[in-house]
Amino acid sequence: MPNPFRNLPSVNQLLEIEPLKKMVKTVNHNVVADGVRTFLDDLRTQVSNAAEDIAIPTASEIATRVADWLEKSEQPALRPVINGTGILLHTGLGRAPLCSDAINAVSDIASGYASVELDLASGSRGQRIRAVESILCELTGAEAAAVVNNNAAATMLALAALASGKEVVVSRGQMIEIGGSYRLPDVMKCSGCELREVGTTNKTHPADFENAIGENTGALLKVHPSNFEVVGFTRSVSLEEMVHIGSQHNIPVIDDVGSGALVDFSRFGLSDEPVVSQSVKQGADVVLFSGDKLVGGPQCGIIVGKKKHVQRILRNPLMRAMRVGKMTLAALNATLLCYRNQDLDGNQIPLLRMLSIPSENLKLRAGRIAEQIEHLSGFKSAISEPCQSMLGGGSVPTQQIDSWCVSMETESMSVDALANQLRNGEPAVIGRIHNDRLVLDLRTIHPQYDILLVELLSKVVG
Ligand SMILES: *Cc1c(COP(=O)(O)O)cnc(C)c1O
Repeated sequence: MPNPFRNLPSVNQLLEIEPLKKMVKTVNHNVVADGVRTFLDDLRTQVSNAAEDIAIPTASEIATRVADWLEKSEQPALRPVINGTGILLHTGLGRAPLCSDAINAVSDIASGYASVELDLASGSRGQRIRAVESILCELTGAEAAAVVNNNAAATMLALAALASGKEVVVSRGQMIEIGGSYRLPDVMKCSGCELREVGTTNKTHPADFENAIGENTGALLKVHPSNFEVVGFTRSVSLEEMVHIGSQHNIPVIDDVGSGALVDFSRFGLSDEPVVSQSVKQGADVVLFSGDKLVGGPQCGIIVGKKKHVQRILRNPLMRAMRVGKMTLAALNATLLCYRNQDLDGNQIPLLRMLSIPSENLKLRAGRIAEQIEHLSGFKSAISEPCQSMLGGGSVPTQQIDSWCVSMETESMSVDALANQLRNGEPAVIGRIHNDRLVLDLRTIHPQYDILLVELLSKVVG
């Protein structure tokens, strides 16, 4: 029996053939040689396991395939994505896109040194929070501020700094889990606090808090139930009621508002999101929120509140482990300045811009795109239709936002295969699958991508 491997080229032979020959000059030689070896091993296994003879590719075919494969594996795992899911604050897709001022600020600051902890006016050492403290205080009405890696960190830090070794009183109706491993009882434990649950799932009364307060009470915690809603026979204790109880016993009240609206989102048709300045005004000692949810800025956790509490937080050793870098500070400051300039209807902040696009506008785009896809070969149908976008990121779970999408079906490809191909495209496109059709919601797709989308679909299916 003839040896089927006899015709396989050697590693050294392959490295002399284009495009590998060129690749060896730009990519580390060992990486290319290892790639070739792995590819040849795979090929040998395939040939050995094949039931009948399979054609061995020519040396030049092998070289091309190895080069393609190596190029693919060079691509970073973190890549830009066109978000057709209609989920505006998609945690898996990095939540809020940054505004152009923030991008420019990051670019300026990232490439060199910056006055992160230096007060340029006096030449003395300053605290890094100064970069954003005054604007945060101005926008929220608070006395002081701190910024950490995310809101989960803000919660842990506030609890550890203000109530470690003590009891923290929380309503049973607010005992939340938000994605992944973020569960309030666990966070509490990690912060060294003892959880004291009061009330029931649907009803908690002020007296429940009153009765739970004792010598070892460290804080009262209110948590915005961001990702669910209790309806029907319910009673919760308002922040004002909690502040009243807290002040009588000299116990700080921590308010985790979650998404952290800096303006009233009812202007975008979304109600029920607590506004940070409201919380501050109602007397919360410390208010916690994310920077990349409704603020529309970089990932971070923002703490604002009364000076004496925020200073304890800033002085806690965990602060150092959770602090943010210069790029986050630069992006946050630039985002917050957009709010100061009250340019919310000019909508420099992408999240707010996406929220305020009229549906009519999306309908026009969806119609145009659907028509072009219909003309591509390989597509059975493409239509534009109304749909519902969602805020996501654990915000406003029950409120949907009217939108328009393109919904499509190919002639021979399954919807999963189509979604898979688009996800692996350049750039990647992520859609929704609904009723065996691929759906792209236009509210989360920047209009600059409309033409590119049709080109990508044509490439994938054609
Ligand atoms: C989203 C959320 C968090 C977690 O915030 P991250 O910035 O994702 O860490 C904590 N609490 C509430 C109420 C939230 O909605």
